[in-house]
Amino acid sequence: MRNIFKKLKIFTAIIDAFRNEPETIAYPREPLVLPKGHRGNILMLNPEQCSGCGLCVRDCPANALELIKDTRTKFRLDYYPARCAYCGQCVESCRNQAISHANNLADPTSNPDGSVIVLKDTLEKENEKDS
Ligand code: SF4
Ligand code: SF4
Repeated sequence: MRNIFKKLKIFTAIIDAFRNEPETIAYPREPLVLPKGHRGNILMLNPEQCSGCGLCVRDCPANALELIKDTRTKFRLDYYPARCAYCGQCVESCRNQAISHANNLADPTSNPDGSVIVLKDTLEKENEKDS
């Protein structure tokens, strides 16, 4: 009798699997649809909102952000995704809501320090103007 119940349970599970939506997605062939507040993906910046204050850099526990600052308006914000712990502290720290988790994953690399994303660069532009 127990065996019949077991088999019935498996049978209903198979029927459910056909009826319900798949629980996995074919990423990267299909886009990721992440729940609100999800952490763990590469960071992106809204450059218009970034003032170069450096709070995100100060609070990053993994040394994954770097700010090279010349003056108040001349700065470059670099991001090292392979160093990033994806903790979301920088997102919390930013008072301008300039930094957030994007909807894609970081590319794999064997050189964590060589993988760098320039999030904002006003150094070059300003230097061009100066010359
Ligand atoms: S998510 Fe965490 S580890 Fe990654 S850059 Fe932000 S503060 Fe640093
Ligand atoms: S991302 Fe936010 S916290 Fe980081 S430098 Fe820009 S404004 Fe400041």
